[in-house]
Amino acid sequence: MYSEMFQLHADLLKALAHPRRLEIIHLLRGQELPVSDIHTMLDLPQANVSQHLMILRDAGVVITRREGKQVYYKVADIRIMEASDLLRQVLIVKHKDTPLAGELLLRMSELVPIVQDPVCGMRVSPKTAGFHVLHDAQDYYFCASGCVSIFKKEPAKYV
Ligand SMILES: [Zn+2]
Repeated sequence: MYSEMFQLHADLLKALAHPRRLEIIHLLRGQELPVSDIHTMLDLPQANVSQHLMILRDAGVVITRREGKQVYYKVADIRIMEASDLLRQVLIVKHKDTPLAGELLLRMSELVPIVQDPVCGMRVSPKTAGFHVLHDAQDYYFCASGCVSIFKKEPAKYV
């Protein structure tokens, strides 16, 4: 019983112990996201994202909900978030005299905001979107070059 307890604890930490999986947890702070958004925000191959999500789900860290063809993910227990934030605070103290401390304080929504491709309506992340246009001092991001050319032909239609 005694050793089983520490094994369970270690298994949970093992599921969390990957930079991409910690990133996923922080993306899911206070929100439920479809796998396609997680994929867009992390800029990782879908198969890779799915594998990380499976590990998190098997460990009970995230739970899923299916709606049509889309699967939505959210953190199963808010205390996972709190535990992760506590560890980040340890890191903030450790790195307090470096620029890293500031970044550790940021939320994922500040690090990886989500915007909409004005042409197709797809959700993209400015950090990972390959296509960007500056129009009338405003930034626009696109899923692919096709949407960029459509936008450039007739920007007034989309702004
Ligand atoms: Zn598009």
